Amino acid sequence: MNIILLGPPGAGKGTQARRLVEEHGMIQLSTGDMLRAARTSGTAMGKRVAAVMDEGNLVTDEIVIGLIEEQLSIDNSKGFIFDGFPRTLGQADALGNLLNKINKQLDFVIEMKVDDDALVSRIVGRSTCESCGEVYHNVTKPEPNECHMCGSKIFRRRADDNELSLKTRLMAYYRDTSPLIGYYYAKGNLHSINGLHDINIVAEKIGSVLNC
Ligand code: ADP
Repeated sequence: MNIILLGPPGAGKGTQARRLVEEHGMIQLSTGDMLRAARTSGTAMGKRVAAVMDEGNLVTDEIVIGLIEEQLSIDNSKGFIFDGFPRTLGQADALGNLLNKINKQLDFVIEMKVDDDALVSRIVGRSTCESCGEVYHNVTKPEPNECHMCGSKIFRRRADDNELSLKTRLMAYYRDTSPLIGYYYAKGNLHSINGLHDINIVAEKIGSVLNC
């Protein structure tokens, strides 16, 4: 089963993708995580994309399609979760072609709907445990004392989780990514769920779409 989680920044795609990985052994392909890994490792590509990401703009289709293409050859018997990809119509066409080439198909596109006010407060107050990756929302300074999952006291905020970059990210979402909702509706893959519910309820709703 290969699925796309589609939705604006802060909709909860990463959180739900991680649950599907834990519960069903699917493979999460997050272009955001891949790009952040590239920038930390200091590759030429990582350096090129760093400023674009921090401003909240999209990196080029060529780069992200290349990153996804590299990953599609790994063992994927339980299926892929595309998280943060595709983000443009060009990327969506490219994904369709790449999957065709390896005789795979896209089974579900799950649109996670969250209203803009909620996104802003989720993201501007978002903080992540450096050690286990647990994400905290609506955190105002100071950070939580310690992570309730692993006890670590070190938290980090993403460089693009500030009000200015978020505005740019939201504009990029509405301009470049939201047309994918119509694109996948027309293809017959689209399922929309309300991403404002509690994490467990959203997970249940995704489970009922995927029938798992
Ligand atoms: P979010 O969904 O919270 O905005 P991501 O972690 O998915 O965050 O992406 C962070 C940044 O990485 C984006 O703002 C963009 O600069 C870049 N990025 C990630 N995926 C793509 C993509 N498919 N196409 C273009 N840029 C991308």
